[in-house]
This record gives sequence, structure tokens and C-alpha cells, in this order.
Amino acid sequence: MQLYCESLTEYRRLPTREVKVGNLTLGNFHPIRVQTMTTTDTMDTLATVEQSIRCIEAGSELIRITAPSKREAENLLTIKNELRKRGYNTPIVADIHFTPNAAEIAARVVEKVRINPGNYIDKKKFEIIEYSDAEYQEEIDRIRERFTPLVKICKEYGTAMRIGTNHGSLSDRIMSRYGDTPIGMVESAMEFLRIARAEQYHNIVLSMKSSNPQVMVQAYRLLVKTMFDEFGECYPLHLGVTEAGDGEDGRIKSAIGIGTLLEDGLGDTIRVSLTEDPELEIPVCKDIVKRYKGENPIAEITAQQEPGIQLPYSAFDYNRRNTFSVGNIGEHHVPVVVADLSKLDTITKEDLQSIGYTYDEVSDKWNIADIAADYIFTGHTILSFSLPGTLKVIVYPAAWLALEDKKKYVPIFDDMGFVKSEFKSNDVNFVMIDCFSDDTSNKGYLDSFANDPSVVLCLSSTAKNPVQSVRRMFCELMNRNIKNPVVLIVDSNWQTADEHLIHYATEAGALLLDGLGDGICLGMTLEAYSNFDNNLSGRRYSSSIEGSRMRVEQFINNTAFSILQATRTRISKTEYISCPSCGRTLFDLQETTARIRGVTNHLKGLKIAIMGCIVNGPGEMADADFGYVGSGPGRITLYKGKEIVKRNVPSEIAVEELINLLKENNVWIEQQVLIN
Ligand code: SF4
Repeated sequence: MQLYCESLTEYRRLPTREVKVGNLTLGNFHPIRVQTMTTTDTMDTLATVEQSIRCIEAGSELIRITAPSKREAENLLTIKNELRKRGYNTPIVADIHFTPNAAEIAARVVEKVRINPGNYIDKKKFEIIEYSDAEYQEEIDRIRERFTPLVKICKEYGTAMRIGTNHGSLSDRIMSRYGDTPIGMVESAMEFLRIARAEQYHNIVLSMKSSNPQVMVQAYRLLVKTMFDEFGECYPLHLGVTEAGDGEDGRIKSAIGIGTLLEDGLGDTIRVSLTEDPELEIPVCKDIVKRYKGENPIAEITAQQEPGIQLPYSAFDYNRRNTFSVGNIGEHHVPVVVADLSKLDTITKEDLQSIGYTYDEVSDKWNIADIAADYIFTGHTILSFSLPGTLKVIVYPAAWLALEDKKKYVPIFDDMGFVKSEFKSNDVNFVMIDCFSDDTSNKGYLDSFANDPSVVLCLSSTAKNPVQSVRRMFCELMNRNIKNPVVLIVDSNWQTADEHLIHYATEAGALLLDGLGDGICLGMTLEAYSNFDNNLSGRRYSSSIEGSRMRVEQFINNTAFSILQATRTRISKTEYISCPSCGRTLFDLQETTARIRGVTNHLKGLKIAIMGCIVNGPGEMADADFGYVGSGPGRITLYKGKEIVKRNVPSEIAVEELINLLKENNVWIEQQVLIN
């Protein structure tokens, strides 16, 4: 095995133990299962049964239901019986936090229990405690004593278990020793896993969730490596990004985290946590996994058969690849966004509105949005109007050569075209490389432009597994000490807006999360471009172009910036960490999230958490700057970081109080636009 996956050069799934959840089998190359969690009150049997049925009919293969106390755990039997009576045999998972009693009841009733090792038996009071080795061992012994009865019940009843670690709710003990790190997350699960294995209980699935896809990806990879190092085998993995939020951002964040790991061949079941009705999560799950099913050939056929590579970078922590800068690309510059306008017949000033530039006739100036593209690619087209100062145009060499004033224009060559061309820019040249069609066993041609201070490489791949193919080229560049910056080119030939989003997020996100890439250019094939309809998925994507249907260019531009935001490589907007809600939720989370987003979405870089309950919310909101947390019926508690600052605020004035809190902390600004 490679460091953490079966292969870095081709798509190969990680072999894992087989786990039975009722009539469903997980792991060991069984299809990647999709699942969701109900948001109703578990004591409301009818509402929970009906919501479960909606999820099952949407395709959910497992249904998770919260069981915060003994009462709810007992009611799971009534819910299960009602579902079976209505002909639905989908396995049920009880979601447990804090209460071993509830877990032990549920394990006798449903097919699977999920425990959170951060708060099952262990403590979470945000205390830093220094443990000697002996004291630490005593705590492990105490956990063993309290956890073993649940393991024995699961073994006796044939119940499966998920040991589900959350980045935001690690116990005080783990935090004190490891901090909130991927190692801490892995160790938190391994402590429980070792106890279960000692009881010869193996019907186990593990998860390492975080609202930050970077942390989540590193933790899962480290878990796989740790399991193999220690046990020589791996248990199935349940993948998810917690508190991903809603809409495009929630989908993109989820696809980046989950998709990156699926590309690694890791993952046996997935859940996409959206602040939306749970049945809406299932089509997104299906879109994410279908790349690996043969409905589309992306992962079916392996790329070039080539000896395995060794990574010249760490897959367990983030380090951006070392580059020099060419213009504003590479080195310390944030990744640039290149908008592809080459499919437009003519390009007018109005067309630039879809990529963040609005022309004001009266002042003869451009308003520049936070998500304004840095470059446009126009193919052979030269523009007939003067451009905003921050924008440059990439054109084919013949068009560039014919220009008298080349100041705003940059040529783009294919690799051998650049080598052979007599005319090149002295400042910036883009050079395209198809990482698949190039002869990868002889990359000597790379040396002909390696470290040329004017060259920005544009990497794409027509291989069936582009992520591995482009990653292999990055390894080649790093091994040859080639430090030219790289723009990632990702084209999509999918149909619906959701499918495009997931495709871009997976393919660009998987590389950016590993520090690979200094810019992105997302495109569509002509067929996909001509058929694009942002309403295909049954939901309109947000558009800032008033009164008009969103254009492909705007959709792609928004997506590019959202991918950079989710990979935390370029922050251009407010980040929302909102829980998906569950039976514990104390207010209308979807409506409240929309309201808070409406008044704060101009606060670039700020992370605001909106959490349904005070039991798990504060723990799970991870690295949010401010938190809005339900603390009782009609009551909200506001947080600054992990600290409570306003307790039990009536919900009618809570959004206003949140704004006041932002003002008191000097992070509130009035909305404004930059004028160039
Ligand atoms: S934070 Fe949200 S999803 Fe988590 S337990 Fe509370 S209400 Fe449920």
C-alpha cells in the first residue's frame, strides 16, 4: 500500500473489512452507500416515519435518527415497527451523544448505533487538563469499563457501530494531549476501536468529520495509515463534511472533502450534511458517487499503467507547492481565477458583469466585486473596449502576435508550440500541458521551459482519471525542481448544474487541498455549454445579475471562487458553518441561516456558525469566529469563538443582537463596492 491509499497513479478502491448493517453490506468493495439523517423530533413518531420514507424514496440506504436520551432511544422501536409495517426495511442508525444508557437501549432495537468518542463517556467542557501517562491510562481504563457493555450488546444483537469523531467535539483529554489536530481525531477513534477489537467485535465503521475539508481529508488519510500500521487492515469509512451549510457552498464543500477521498479510493458510505431537508441530500450524494459506479467512465478505466509514484509532498498536512511568481500568479499570491469567455460570439462590457465587473456609464468606471476573475480567456477574440485595470486577457498566439498594443494581453501556447515559437512574451506566457497525452515516461521536453521566469503552466488531463494524472505531473515537476506556477484547467461534460459543481469541486479541490495549483480555470465542453440550464436540478442557483437567468459564465465564476474559499486558499466571502439540524433543533434553521446570510454576506473572511442546539452546537462549530446557537425554545445564545457573550436572547431580536456583537468587535462593515 502507498502511504494512505492503494494507488496514487490510478483509481483503485481501498479494501476494507465487510460490515453488516441489517440487510445492508458495507465495505469490501460493495457499492458506496448513501445515507442521511432525519431532522424531526424523535418523539414525533409520525413526522419521523414520514420524513424517513421521503429519504428512503429519494434513495437513502440508511436512515439516522437522533436519540439524545432513553426516551427517544425507546421510541426508535415504535418508529422502526411503523416503517417495517409500511414495507420499508431500510436499516436505522441511532445517533448518540453523551448518553451510554440511550446507546445501550438503541443497540438492542436498531441496526446500527453511532457514538461520538469525543463525548461518549469522555468529557467536553473546554478545559485544558495536564495528564501524566499514568493518569491518561487511567482514563482509557475508565472508558474501557464504560464502553465495553455497549460493545457486548452490539455483538450479541448483531448491531453495527460507527465510531464517529468530529473535529469540533474532541474530548478535553484528547485536546489537552493532541490539540484539535488530525492526529487527535485519529487517536480519539483508535482508543475506542482498540477496545472493540479486544472484544473481537469488528462490525465497525469509522468517520473523521470536520467542517474544514482540509482537516477532514488529512484525518481520514491518517486514520487509514494508522489502522494499516497497527492492525494490517482497515475498517469501512463513512465520509462527510460536517456543518457544510446550504446551497452551492454546502454542495461544493461536501464534494471537495468527500470527492478528494473517493478519488483516493477511500470511503464506503457517504453523507452530505446540508442545512436543507434531508431528502435533498440524497441526489447530491448520488451525484458524488456516480463517478465511481460506471454510469460515467471516469473511474472505470485506469490511466497509463506506470510504476507507482512516491509523493514528494505530505498528504497529511497542508503545504503549498513551492513556486516563483509570474506576474500575479504563484509564490505568495492567492490562486487566480481565469474565466473562459471563448464560447461567446462577441464580448461586450455587459458580459463582464457575470465575472464580477460592472461598468458604470455615468462615471465611466468599473465596479469590481470580491469575486471578480483575474484573467479572461477569449480564444482568438480581441476586445473592442478598455478593460478594468485588474483584468488581463489570454489569447491564442496568432491573435496576440497581431496586436499592436499587447499590454493587456497574454499568449497561451500548447507545450511544443511554445518550445518551437520564435515569438513569445517577455513577461507572461501560458503553456498548456495535457497530462494524459504527454509521454509521461519521457518528460525531457519539460526542461525546455522549466523555470523560464515567464511561463505559467496550465495542466489539464483528458485521462479517465484526471486527478491522479495531473497529480502525477505535479510530482514530476517537484522531482525535477521545476517551480513554475500552475493553473489547473478542469472541463466538464456533465449535464445538470449540480453535476458540474460536483465535478469541478472534486477535480480542482482534490489538488488544491494538497497545496497543488496557483489558479483555476473551469470550463465546459461545447455540448454542456449549449445545454446548460441552471434550473435543471430543480433549484435555481443564486444569481447577482438582476432579473436575468444565470449565465454559464457567472455560475462557473461563482463556483471557482467557492472552491477556493472551501479549500481555504482564497477567501472572498463570509463562511457559514451551519448544522444540518436534527431532532434536537430548537428553531427553523433553514430560515434563520438564510436571514443571517442576508445581512452578513458581505463580511469577507468571517466565519459564522448557526447551530441548532446548545448540547452539541458549541462543540461542533469548530473554528467559527462567532456562533448563533439555539439554547431553548425561542432563545438564542451568542458566542465569540467558544466563549458565551450573550445568553438566552429572545429569537425575535437575536439577529440584530448578532449584528451588535459584530459591531462591538469591530468586524462589522457597511456594504461597499470598489471602483476602479
Ligand atoms: S448541532 Fe444541530 S445537528 Fe448537531 S445535535 Fe444540535 S441541532 Fe442536531
